[in-house]
This record gives sequence, structure tokens and C-alpha cells, in this order.
Amino acid sequence: MIELSDRLEQFVLEIPKVELHLHMEGAIPLETLFGFIQRREDNKLIKNLEDLKKRLVYSNFAQFIKVWLWKNSFITEYEDFEELAYQVLQSLSQQNVKYVEAFYSPRDFTFRNKKLSACGITESLIKGKKKAFDDFGIRSELIVDVVRDYGPRMGMDLIKELSGYLGRGLIGIGLGGSEKLFPAGLFTKVYQEARERGFRLTAHAGEAAGAKSIWAALNELGAERIGHGLKAYEDPQLINYLQERQTPLEMCVVSNIKTQVCKTFKEHPIKNYFKEGLMVTINSDDPAMFDTSITNEYLVLIQKFGFSLEEIRKVNFNSIEASFMTDEERDTMKVTFNKEWERLTS
Ligand SMILES: [Zn+2]
Repeated sequence: MIELSDRLEQFVLEIPKVELHLHMEGAIPLETLFGFIQRREDNKLIKNLEDLKKRLVYSNFAQFIKVWLWKNSFITEYEDFEELAYQVLQSLSQQNVKYVEAFYSPRDFTFRNKKLSACGITESLIKGKKKAFDDFGIRSELIVDVVRDYGPRMGMDLIKELSGYLGRGLIGIGLGGSEKLFPAGLFTKVYQEARERGFRLTAHAGEAAGAKSIWAALNELGAERIGHGLKAYEDPQLINYLQERQTPLEMCVVSNIKTQVCKTFKEHPIKNYFKEGLMVTINSDDPAMFDTSITNEYLVLIQKFGFSLEEIRKVNFNSIEASFMTDEERDTMKVTFNKEWERLTS
């Protein structure tokens, strides 16, 4: 058994990984985004990567959403989406990520840019991810993000529009956006329709709002996983429920600190949740916007929360368990992970 020492960073980089909570548009490597920005003559304020990094600082969740939309305004062509998916997956594959379930939010683009359609964006991302699979062997599925702010009618239209891509690169739906302003209950029918059509269901909850919002995602949407679930601690009954049912939490520690929904690492409940036997997974959310990576998230678990090697291994395998892969795919993935862990720790 190796000790977690100075070889730590290399070790964490090399462990096999599955990522379940990652937004394609928030994972775009900064070099790629800077390239998109440079095409726009009207943007004289961002002259280099440093200028860009300075824009990626947030005082609260609402301001994060503003910066998110600003960044999206530079992603304007179908080819951009193909390029984006390819670059994001390449960067994940360099961290030995084997499989990703990635969100994308087509309405953020089609709402403002009439020459783009949700189907067109989906097809472009699928093209990019196929290319990444051919080049790097990394597998991925898309989860369409029904952004709360656009309301349930737009969400319903999106589900109907994109159903044809299920099994062809699309696997589920998620619910992002302004959690406090648009409660999950507004989207009950959208989730019902999605479930009937064969979408797998996840929802951001307990990130910007509290435990009630998590209950709503579970009871009113039937969410199979919870994005973040940070605020579950507000309700001990909810903690019991999550523990008993082993409902996966897609936790993203650095994101929570950067958007200031959690002020310090010390206050973050991830270690307690893990100790209480909740199904905790670790993810990077919007790595490019939060100056993090899935590798860094694992490092944070070790360095800030004192996770042992065995505990890291458990969190690592939880992501396989919590994924929307078929039983057969999950079993194959576990065999791969076991082999690589054996090699890394022998
Ligand atoms: Zn997220």
C-alpha cells in the first residue's frame, strides 16, 4: 500500500475517473474560449488569458450566472460546440477520465442567437464527442440542462425536441439555473414527460437554496441523483433519507467555495456526508470557470478534508455506481478501475 506523499499529485492525476457533474460550457479550456473571444472585434477588454481569468471571479451565485452568460456570448457557431466538446473531453482524458455525463444548456444559446437550434447544438456536441472517443477513447453521454429561468414551457419543448437523441449521445435531463427564484415544483410535468420518454433524471438542488429544494427535487421531480445537495444538513430527516436510499450526491467542492454558497472548506459538509454513509461523488462542475479540475477536486478531498486512500477509492467507485451506465457497462468499468488501482497501488 502506498502512502499519500509527494507523489500525490501524479497519483491523483493517474487514478481512473468517472465524472457525473460537469457543464460542457463551463469546462471549456480557457485557451479555447480566448480563441472564440478574439474573433470578436468589439471585445477589446480581454487582451490575454490573464484578462480572461480576472473576469472569472464571483461575489455570489447570481453574479456567477451573469459571468456564465457573458462567456456563452462568445460561443456562436455550430463548429464552436463541436470544438468545445472535443477540447473538454481531451482535457478530461488527460486526467484519465474514462467516462463523463456532461450537461449542456442549449436554451442559453438559442434564446439569444436565432441561427442556432437545440437539435443543431446537440448534433455538434455529439460530433465533437465522437471525435474525442476516436482520438482518446473517452466515453461520454450528454445531459440536457433545463435551465429553471426559462420556465417549464420551454423545458417541455426542449424535451420533446431532443427525445430523438436518446440513445444516440443523450442520456438524461438536469435542472440548473436560479434555484431560489424557480422552485423544482414548477417542473414536475417536464420531469414526468422526460421520465416517460426514457430520459434519466438529475437536478441541481441544495446549492443556492436549502434542504426544502432537495426534497422538492426528490419528491416532485423524482430525481435519481442530486446535483450538489450541499444544504442537506439543514434537515436530519433528509440526511437519513439520502443515506437509506443511497441517493447519489454529485458534489462539487471548489465550485461551492467559488460561488460562495459555502464560505470555507471547513464549513463544507462533504466529509461528514461521506462518514454518515451518504452516496457521495466528487465532480468539477465548471472547472474552467472555477480554476479547478477533477484531479484537483480529489486533491482537495485529501488535502483539505483528510480523505484516506481507501476513502478516495470508495468515492472514486461511487461515481461508477451512481452513473447512468447500464449494469453491464458498470461492471466492465469496475473491472477496469480495479486493474488500474491495483497497478497504481502495488
Ligand atoms: Zn452544476
